[in-house]
Order: sequence, then C-alpha cells, then structure tokens
Amino acid sequence: MTKYIAVVGGVISGVGKGVATASIARILKERGFSINIIKIDPYINCDAGTLRPTEHGEVWVTDDGGEIDQDLGNYERFLEQPLSKLNNITTGQIYKSLIDKERRGDFLGETVQFIPHVPDEIKSRIKQVSGGYDIVLIEIGGTVGDYENIPFLFALKSLENEIGNDNIIYMLVTYLPIPSHIEEMKTKPTQTSVKLLRENGIQPDFILCRGKKRLDEIRKKKIELYANVKSDNVISMPDVVGEGTPNTLYVIPIDLEKERLGDKILNRLKLETKKEPDWRDWLEKLNGILNAEKKIKIAIVGKYLNIGDYKLVDSYISINEALIHAGANNKTKIEITWIDSKEFEKDLYSIEKLRNYNGVIVPGGFGGSGVEGKINAIRYSRENNIPYLGLCFGLQLAVIEFARNVCNLEKAHTTEIDHLTKNPVIDLLPEQKLVLEKGGTMRLGAYKALLKEGSRVRELYNKDEVFERHRHRYEVNPEYHMILLEKGLVFSGVSPDGRLVEFIELPNHKFFIATQAHPEFKSYLLNPAPLFDGFVKACLD
Ligand code: GLN
Repeated sequence: MTKYIAVVGGVISGVGKGVATASIARILKERGFSINIIKIDPYINCDAGTLRPTEHGEVWVTDDGGEIDQDLGNYERFLEQPLSKLNNITTGQIYKSLIDKERRGDFLGETVQFIPHVPDEIKSRIKQVSGGYDIVLIEIGGTVGDYENIPFLFALKSLENEIGNDNIIYMLVTYLPIPSHIEEMKTKPTQTSVKLLRENGIQPDFILCRGKKRLDEIRKKKIELYANVKSDNVISMPDVVGEGTPNTLYVIPIDLEKERLGDKILNRLKLETKKEPDWRDWLEKLNGILNAEKKIKIAIVGKYLNIGDYKLVDSYISINEALIHAGANNKTKIEITWIDSKEFEKDLYSIEKLRNYNGVIVPGGFGGSGVEGKINAIRYSRENNIPYLGLCFGLQLAVIEFARNVCNLEKAHTTEIDHLTKNPVIDLLPEQKLVLEKGGTMRLGAYKALLKEGSRVRELYNKDEVFERHRHRYEVNPEYHMILLEKGLVFSGVSPDGRLVEFIELPNHKFFIATQAHPEFKSYLLNPAPLFDGFVKACLD
C-alpha cells in the first residue's frame, strides 16, 4: 500500500518548503523506496503556463508537455526522475474537471456541492498518480490559515480516514524569525501555525524549522511543549543560501540526514529501510561546489524589466541550477551577472564589457523588448570567439544574427516581433498559425532530435538522438535552411523528419552552440546537462 507524507507550510510562504519536500524525497529514495511527489497549488489558473515568471517564478516544463510550478523542478532535480504534469494539481483543475463532469451529466439528479465533491475530486487526482509507488509526498502550496488551502487539508483528512493514520504523516515546515531588535529566535508564530493546523483536524508529526540559525535544544523543547510534537521530531533547517555561505541547496539532504529525519519518518510509517543510503557521489559533487578550485564569469543577457526587488534567479532557476551542476562537475565556481540587453541598444560601446566574461548565455524569452541588444551580444560573442550558449529564443536570435551578418539578409527577423519582415528566418509553422487559445498550446514537452555525426553537440551528448524539452511557438523557417547551411551554419540536431532545427553550432569557434529546446530542464547534480557541461569547460579553456 502507498504511504503518504503531507507537507504544509506555516508562518510565511517562500521558506523552502519545496526544497525540503524534494530533499526528503531523495533521502527516502536513497533507502530504496519508489517515490512520487505531488504539488498542490491553490490558485485558480489551470497551470503555471499563463503566470508571469517575474512574479511567480520559472515555468517548469515536463516531458509530457506540462507547464507547471517551479517546485516540480526541484523535485525532479533532487529525485533525478521525470515527473508528469499530473503531479501538479491546482484549484482551477479541480473545479474545471467537476464543472465539465456536471455539464456532461455525470452527476445527473445530484446536487454538486463543495463537500463531498471537491475533496473527492482532489483525492481521486492524488490517487491517479500514486499507484504503484511506495511513498508519495504531497506538498500543499501557501501557508496554513490561507482560505484557499482548506479544501486540500480537508481532502487529506478524508484520505487519512480511508487509509489509516499509520499510512500518512503530516509535516509542518515553519519559519522562526529572529527580530533584529532582540536578536532572539521566536517560536510563537510556529505555535500559532500548529494551532491553525489543528483547527483543520491535523496534528503535525514533524515540524521542520526554517530560520537564519540552527534551532537550539531549548527552543526544540519549547515547541515540544506547546505543539505536542516530540522534540526529536522538531527538525532544524537553517539557511544554506545567504551572505557568505556557498550558494547550494544540495547540502540540505545531507543536513537532514544528520538529524536522522529519514529513519524517523520510516519509523513513524512502520517501514523498514530497503537499502543503506549511499551519498558518496552526491558528496563528491557537493565538494565540487563547496571547495571549487576555479572560477568563471558568465553573462546572461536577457530582458529584465520592471521587476523591482524581485530576485531574478527565480525566473531562470533551472539555468542557474544547470550551471551549478556543471560547475560542480568541473570544480568551478560560476559567477553569474544578469545583463539587461537594453543596455547594448542604448550605448553601442557598452558591448565591450562582454570581454570581461568567460561566456555568454541568451536564455529563453518572449517579445521584442531588448531583442536588438541580445542580437548585438550574440554577434559580439561570435566575432570575438567568446563561448556562447543559446537557449530557445537564444537559438532563434543566433539564427537571425547569422542571417543578417553572414548571409547578408539585412531584414532577417522573427515574425514574433516583425510580422511583415522581408526575411522571416524565424516563423510560425502552419499548425501554430491555427492556434487561438493561449494556454497550453505552444510546442511543449520532450521531442526527439537526431544529432549530426561529427558535430560538437553529438560529441557532448555522446548519443545519436536525444529528447529535450520544448516551450515555444516559433521555429527556424524551413525556407531558409539552405542559405543558412550554405553560409556555414551547422544544424547539429534536427527533428526526425528533418523539418525542425533543434541544435545549431558554428565550427571554428571555441563554443557556439544553441538549441531550440531547454536542456536546463534535464540537468542533475550527479548528471549535468551535456551542453552546460561543455559550455563550462569551454569557458574554462
Ligand atoms: N518566443 C519564442 C517562441 O515562442 C521563444 C520561446 C522561448 O524562448 N521559450 O518561439
């Protein structure tokens, strides 16, 4: 029978509940269990594809074409296992499915009500992805006390009622602030969160305490007293990312192992360890991050607008992590500078600053803002032999740059930005021209690409064919393939029918590679994405 671990948040959101969930999943996988993870997002959007990344974080793309919450990216990275889009449940999906069923007549004669229909729908969605797994973790987005969480907490209680208390545990991830005027870690907000959870009939089995510092024994005891959770099950999870600390989340499973959390969870679920955890490879890579011997500087050139105090890395978290993985593999610290491409439009000489970087990335993007600046950065990298990695939009713009400056197609552009361009080297395919609805209609998910014998990309992947994930509407226009090839652009990967360009590269360049896909979605600490690894090696050269 599948056992469940429900993870809920207390006090504030954004304390690393997702990473905690992912780390616990990894700890249990290391003990030989098959694991799946579900993320519940209480918003009414049906998926994350229509959310603004600078507000909500990166949109994570799955093999099966889901555009979902970025927490599932952490799950995949820590578990090293692909997850389905069905692993992300939103309020919007639950209501949409219920309303569709009601309209179809599935409930003919019945009144469709919040209880039991909503919790039943939630439970059936949970069960749909749980089958066959030993342990399923369910993370509920937001914080206890939010109005929108209530149906999901209710559904968990109802699930518990069905499967019994031995088969589900509750974990509260909470935050312990240290107000600067008293410099003392306060437990009160955590006590209040436990109270709120109890109002929903849920008593936490474990409390994971996030905070700037490690939780001391006195506070563990205090929480035991007020929350009725044994101090042994009050787990400290201090910050690992911050000023002066090496920027890596990959220490968290190791930290949680020190608290013996895995064994305590198995004990509570009445499960015997299937194998001894083996962290040797993980620790070796971690060492590559913590004790990096070399350093490189990378410029990520994009459109970074109106973001206020928002942390940019959240919109590009997978690129950041893929660089960390490649850095760990090469014992290299990677210093990232986010450069607003508009800068290269206003002041043409400012492009010279790219000389200070070991490599340049143009990431995925949409719309015309700052595009000429990105194209200038690509041209500069091409002409000055600076390693360049283009991701999705970064491929499209590299093709435009090549068409304009090498093929002499001065007006070359993408019809995404200039509908009437004389040389639409990047264009919509006929099937995309028919699309009317915005949600879930891009070219999404994993597609096969055949890699060209003798190409750099083929050498890096060390395979003839690869499946990388996509999220875009536009493609290299087949009408321009010949002229691009004649002028020396190499199509190092194409779709099986040869119609779509998936990878390009330039010979006689230190590293000039771009892909229509997003290889950052398949990069792991123990198994870095080959293009990122190759890019970092070229930057070190
Ligand atoms: N805007 C481009 C397209 O839709 C690229 C998208 C991306 O970079 N993910 O094709």
